[in-house]
Amino acid sequence: MSPQWTRRQVLTQLGIAAAAIHTLDPHELCCAVPAHAATSDKDLFEVKKVADGVYAAVAATAYKVNCNAAVILTDDGVIVVDSHSKPSAARALYTEIQGITKKPVRKVINTHFHWDHWQGNEVYRAANPGLEIVTTQRTRENLTRPDAGVGGVPFIEKQLAALPKEIDKLKDDITKASNPEMKGRLESSLQQAEAYFQELKQMKPALPTRTVSTTVTLQEQGREIQLHVLGRAHTDGDLFIYLPKEKVVATGDALIDWMPFLNDGYPEDWVQTLTNLDKLDFVQVIPGHGDVRPKDHLTFFRGYLTELIAAVKKAAADGATLDEMKKTVADQLAPKYERGMSKYPLGQYRDRVGLNVEMVYQKVVKKA
Ligand SMILES: [Zn+2]
Ligand SMILES: [Zn+2]
Repeated sequence: MSPQWTRRQVLTQLGIAAAAIHTLDPHELCCAVPAHAATSDKDLFEVKKVADGVYAAVAATAYKVNCNAAVILTDDGVIVVDSHSKPSAARALYTEIQGITKKPVRKVINTHFHWDHWQGNEVYRAANPGLEIVTTQRTRENLTRPDAGVGGVPFIEKQLAALPKEIDKLKDDITKASNPEMKGRLESSLQQAEAYFQELKQMKPALPTRTVSTTVTLQEQGREIQLHVLGRAHTDGDLFIYLPKEKVVATGDALIDWMPFLNDGYPEDWVQTLTNLDKLDFVQVIPGHGDVRPKDHLTFFRGYLTELIAAVKKAAADGATLDEMKKTVADQLAPKYERGMSKYPLGQYRDRVGLNVEMVYQKVVKKA
């Protein structure tokens, strides 16, 4: 268990799966996690220094999970990579940043279009109307495309439509809760769901103002920041932020410290894109979710994707049904990957492997 989880968080997480997982819309599985109370700033994230003037805001588990953010100081301002899932969380990080430096946040960089990585953009724009929001051309398109997946402006509407049902379900579960502890957790989830609903209603989406289609280098007042477009992976518009001098890379969800979410992804391309990333000279990864990791985490994560694809292809060739392969592939890869993919109370191996198998089957075998 990672040390940044408080005891209460861990206890809360251990008990929640059965009670709360059913409140999730499958379309939100990217980053939604079982309900959990996150009521103060330190429950939202922990800011860790990864190099001189470079910080990772490592997100804690929350009812509507937040992504990690990278905070990069330059001589004349601050650059933030990804902006959490909601303005209140972005505001909390902005307040922390202001505690480190009073310089303005000049740029926000979005790694991809998923809801939990950009819905806080508006906070930085409000603080600095001259803010530049940078992403790939494709991610900019995905942010307004109705069928892009679990993110973008149209997805705000989908969440707004789904939340009343989710809230009713939580209320219903509270009346049925079998013990005070469970009831308390559900009440906290309900509180958060209602607060999130209010935030969503008032959201003023701040979309990227600048896009890149190929790799570019930004010279940012004393710091070189490379934006790498390395191919399709977690989405078709993933952006990697690389600091060559500090040997740090921020990857969004193309490389995370728990099980990958493949629904909007390209499994075979993803392996190749990670191989492209591997060629960069870095020692630390600020992943989209989970703790800061050394470079060799890439090998582990890519290994999982590679073996998952091979195992699903083989099972399909052997005539297995989808249900059969969900079980056999999960068991087959477990000895090597279950432990390393289940370090946190969320995004664990057994929670996601079935859906991963299904996605690879659809996208690679059936090429749907
Ligand atoms: Zn995410
Ligand atoms: Zn994502």
